[in-house]
Amino acid sequence: MGRKDRERFQRLRDGNPDYVGFRGTDTAIVRAPSPATETVVCSVCNRKRNVASDSLPEDVSAFVCLRCQDEIDGDAG
Ligand SMILES: [Zn+2]
Repeated sequence: MGRKDRERFQRLRDGNPDYVGFRGTDTAIVRAPSPATETVVCSVCNRKRNVASDSLPEDVSAFVCLRCQDEIDGDAG
C-alpha cells in the first residue's frame, strides 16, 4: 500500500469511524439462534406442522396453519 493510499484510507476512516476496510464486515456477522419449533396438528386440515413456539396460540388444539389461514382469508375476499 503506497503512501497516497494510506492517506486516503486514513481520511475515509476519519470520516467514518466504522470503516475498517472493504472486507471488514465479514467479521461482524452475527448468527441468530434458530427458533424453537413444535410439531402441532392443524385443527382445520389435521396436518402436522412445525410451528415456532413463539407463534403458537395458548390453546394448541385450536391451532390453524398458515395455509388454512390463507384459505379462510381468501374466502372472505
Ligand atoms: Zn391447516
